[in-house]
Amino acid sequence: MAYDKDNIFARILRGEIPCNKVHEDEHTLAFHDINPQTPVHVLVIPKGDYVSMDDFSANASEAEIAGFVRAIGLVARQLGVVENGYRFLANNGADAHQEVPHLHVHIFGGKNLGRMIKPPEK
Ligand code: AMP
Repeated sequence: MAYDKDNIFARILRGEIPCNKVHEDEHTLAFHDINPQTPVHVLVIPKGDYVSMDDFSANASEAEIAGFVRAIGLVARQLGVVENGYRFLANNGADAHQEVPHLHVHIFGGKNLGRMIKPPEK
């Protein structure tokens, strides 16, 4: 899938659309999700043009990958969710209902998130 330079997160990165920023560095930007699913719901995105985790893991530089992973950890610490715990998740492609075609990791926290996958019913 080719990168769409007009996707909403590309426009945020270009400053065309505002965001509620929590962190920015050379390789990453993090901002509050506009429609939070949990008390803490922040998105961390790489600044490079990567459609998805698949694209990023195959094509990003070592520095971008290291920077992205470090930023996820740093943002979680900054948000104060490490002690009680948090979940990070990236939807990749159609079956996962990825809506925005620019890689983003969701950080969820601020409450007990429950099990991600329900145990089978007996
Ligand atoms: P996904 O389904 O993983 O692609 O999630 C896309 C996320 O982007 C959703 O949680 C949306 O609420 C969020 N989102 C969409 N537009 C914006 C925006 N302008 N600012 C912040 N978050 C947004």
